[in-house]
Amino acid sequence: ENLQQSLDRLKPQLCQLASVDAQMQYVVERFQLGDNEKNARELLVQLLQEVLVEFFPDSQILPFGSSINTFGVHSCDIDLFLDLENTKVFQARAKSTTEQAGEAMSDDGRSEDSILSDIDLSSSSTNEVLELVATILRRCVPSVHKVHVVGSARLPVVKFHHQELNLQGDITINNRLAVKNTRFLQLCSGVEDRLRPLVFTLRYWAKQKQLAGNPSGAGPLLNNYALTLLIIYFLQNCDPPALLTVDQLKDMACEEEECVIEGWDCTFPSQPIAVPPSKNTEDLCPLLFGFFTFYANFDFAGSVISVRKGRALPITDFLSQNKAEEAMHEEKPTKTQPHGPKLGPLNLLDPFELSHNVAGNMTERSHRSFRRECQDADKYCRSLQYQRKSIKGKSWGLVRLFTPHGDAPPAKTEQLTISIPFKLASLPETLRNELHMAGDGFRLLWFQKICSAVEGVFKNVLRCDITPSTDAVFGQDSVVDAAGEMEMTLNTSTNDSFDSSESQDTAVVGAKRRLSSGSEASASPQGKKARMTKMRKPELPHWICAHKHMVWAGRRRVRRELIKDTDCRPEGSCMELEAQVTDHIIEKEPELKETLEFKVQPQMVGETESTKTVLTLEPTSDKTGVFHDLFHFLEIFLPKMVETLLEKEAARA
Ligand code: ATP
Ligand code: MG
Repeated sequence: ENLQQSLDRLKPQLCQLASVDAQMQYVVERFQLGDNEKNARELLVQLLQEVLVEFFPDSQILPFGSSINTFGVHSCDIDLFLDLENTKVFQARAKSTTEQAGEAMSDDGRSEDSILSDIDLSSSSTNEVLELVATILRRCVPSVHKVHVVGSARLPVVKFHHQELNLQGDITINNRLAVKNTRFLQLCSGVEDRLRPLVFTLRYWAKQKQLAGNPSGAGPLLNNYALTLLIIYFLQNCDPPALLTVDQLKDMACEEEECVIEGWDCTFPSQPIAVPPSKNTEDLCPLLFGFFTFYANFDFAGSVISVRKGRALPITDFLSQNKAEEAMHEEKPTKTQPHGPKLGPLNLLDPFELSHNVAGNMTERSHRSFRRECQDADKYCRSLQYQRKSIKGKSWGLVRLFTPHGDAPPAKTEQLTISIPFKLASLPETLRNELHMAGDGFRLLWFQKICSAVEGVFKNVLRCDITPSTDAVFGQDSVVDAAGEMEMTLNTSTNDSFDSSESQDTAVVGAKRRLSSGSEASASPQGKKARMTKMRKPELPHWICAHKHMVWAGRRRVRRELIKDTDCRPEGSCMELEAQVTDHIIEKEPELKETLEFKVQPQMVGETESTKTVLTLEPTSDKTGVFHDLFHFLEIFLPKMVETLLEKEAARA
């Protein structure tokens, strides 16, 4: 079943429910592991236990992960930890007795014909042990196939598939921390009832949006464990908090629950009853909305998320830590001087293994998608469509939230605007004088300057392929012409922007005008007037821009590389540097699969005091879905760059 089919089947059920809360509860019921599935998994665990103990005396196989953390869905994988601690003890003891007795050990009948006699756990590598486990699975466990060792993973693992149960399984050793963090998730789930519906809903959302859910867990996407921790962190930061921090939970544990694994403190209560209920009583619907708002606005670049402390730690603390480590690279890291986490675009510390960034696999790109989807979801959640059931039987609530972009009904107006206000005081003096001399026409002169600066940014800084709608409109000679049109536009339109049906008309008129523009170049005043009355809304000047490269992505890093710390000019303050950054990206980064094309239309709006240039951006071809990223970049970059260009021009004059 693909994403679309899955959603199609879910839709009718969700739509008929009465509230978003009910929809979220339904998602849990629909996807959670059933009792029969849990039983089957338990039987598989028992079977594996019986087989493995034959070869690894006193070993234990322990399930962890989604099969038991209360967040498991149908057909999720089964994660297993093979605990060989007792086997090592057994082996050590056996070795010493053998040495003492000076003879082959046969008293318990176990070791003589054991594969284990081939391997000494105290001296063999993880991969050697896993190869042995793989051999045992292949030879001795019925219905298990496709057994192979993945030795290159952060935690090497034996993967297998159980044919009869149609179940993917992973066996790891040295993974006691994962068993513990599974218990921690179980505890959170038991303490806070609303966690499960949130996790199920957000896991499904992330899967539909292709932000998470790669079954192998590899690749640059957010993994389910990391997503769950993000939800827990959000709940810790609600007002009032809906979950306690790990440090606070630790204080509620009793002595027997104290636990340290590999030097990391893993102490927390084993039973939910030990934790008092939270004062937060928010419904699920606003909580889900809150999650999106929280991460839509989160300062990912400056923070390291700590579920243990329940707050964000400044990233600068970790940057200096990394530097300090580099300085003393000779020394082996110890637990008192832990290795810093691998920093990336999203930094989320494991609650226990504090030097591990559980989202360290994410790329700029996958992180950007996550943030953008949170922003889109946040926007959607503000609408009545999210909060209220449609009486006309339309999609509402979670359904729209789960709908992947490609299949969403086309957005009515995919127009985004950037506005550059007219602030006389902030203009360079020469430009101010020039405007002053222009008298009444000063707004138009200013507008024209903004337009050519914007064009300059697209053309010379971002190396955009750019085509103006009509050459004349932006040329020096046509100021008056353009001015007439602009004024007319301002007078005739009741609001600041056209809707799409109108602009289609104007495009036709515009094309006609272009065809006949030669003969009209020296039109008489009457002729001009006639033309104006005919064209009630003339086509506004615009550019069509095309990008083959994502010149907006990763600029910060390139800029840092280029200036090599010798200079600390902020973004957008230097045109040559920015152009270099663009060239570097075009040279080094792969092309987009499909060229992004969009229309930029500048308009001057507002009265004298509040004049501003509003740029309307509208994608005309965006098959790779990158327009929003570009837009968010331009929102900040363009006004800054325009200012720089105006200053430069003024300085030249
Ligand atoms: P699902 O299998 O449904 O995707 P899951 O929670 O089982 O969900 P897995 O990727 O199978 O996720 O991971 C299993 C367990 O391993 C997790 O529950 C967690 O305990 C641990 N784990 C997974 N990824 C990480 C990570 N990046 N850092 C630390 N522990 C992790
Ligand atoms: Mg799993």
